[in-house]
Amino acid sequence: MRLQGKTAIITGGARGIGAAIAEGYVKEGARVCVADLNLKEAEETAARIGNGSFAFALDVTRSDLINACVAEAERRFGGIDILVNNAAVFDMAPWGEITEKSYDFIFGVNVKGLIFMLQEVAESMKRRGRGGKIINFASQAGRRGEPLVTIYCASKAAVISITQSAGLALIKHGINVNGISPGVVDTPMWDHVDGLFAKYENLPKGAKKRLVGEGVPFGRMGRPEDHVGCAIFLASSESDYVVAQTYNVDGGQWMS
Ligand code: NAD
Repeated sequence: MRLQGKTAIITGGARGIGAAIAEGYVKEGARVCVADLNLKEAEETAARIGNGSFAFALDVTRSDLINACVAEAERRFGGIDILVNNAAVFDMAPWGEITEKSYDFIFGVNVKGLIFMLQEVAESMKRRGRGGKIINFASQAGRRGEPLVTIYCASKAAVISITQSAGLALIKHGINVNGISPGVVDTPMWDHVDGLFAKYENLPKGAKKRLVGEGVPFGRMGRPEDHVGCAIFLASSESDYVVAQTYNVDGGQWMS
């Protein structure tokens, strides 16, 4: 077991990719704080994966809740070894219809929330003096623009950049900061994405999802569990020499 005795906070861990990683970490011996806006779903996930895992009602846009989440994980686990910064939101609009509200919503969760979660956990890891592993979720959307997806793409490009800066700043404390960049993954988020594409591209529901799946070189959309192996690697000592990188886990969609 590669994470025996380790402890992790996974933001957005209630469902989708975060829940798959929470389950994968527990199978490798870790205890997990499933930190999510949706407490009920987080509680169900924590109960299902077991091994001393617990749910925390976290909104990553609120620093008081970030502080409380980190304090609770320290109290229950004695310290934090791993943070998976996975919580994110999606919205899209054509140029001319982008609103400040949508910008604040996306950047508030995907960028501000990720930065201050990372900072608070990194400070906790530094105080403890045992290093740690931080994994940020970016996206192929952060590698290039899309005409309808300006703000989300920009938020994920920011995640790749933050991973580089934090990775370089924190490695001297034995804290590895790296990222994972998924492609298109069949989760509740993509059901939301599909509905928005149906509206803006005048497509029947489900059409965009089918099309993007067919376009993946691997031959299908990603599944949450496709990201677990990389997330375990980046959380384990096997990746100690990997610093400030963002790995594409996308079935061959993007090469960089
Ligand atoms: P999802 O929407 O299925 O799950 C996201 C979780 O985050 C939910 O449980 C939600 O309640 C939680 N959340 C939302 N706002 C929050 C907040 N303010 N505070 C705390 N929790 C919050 O998403 P997913 O598809 O599993 O995506 C996981 C990660 O992978 C995200 O960072 C996403 O941007 C990225 N990603 C997903 C895809 C995809 O195709 N699904 C592609 C590329 C990247």
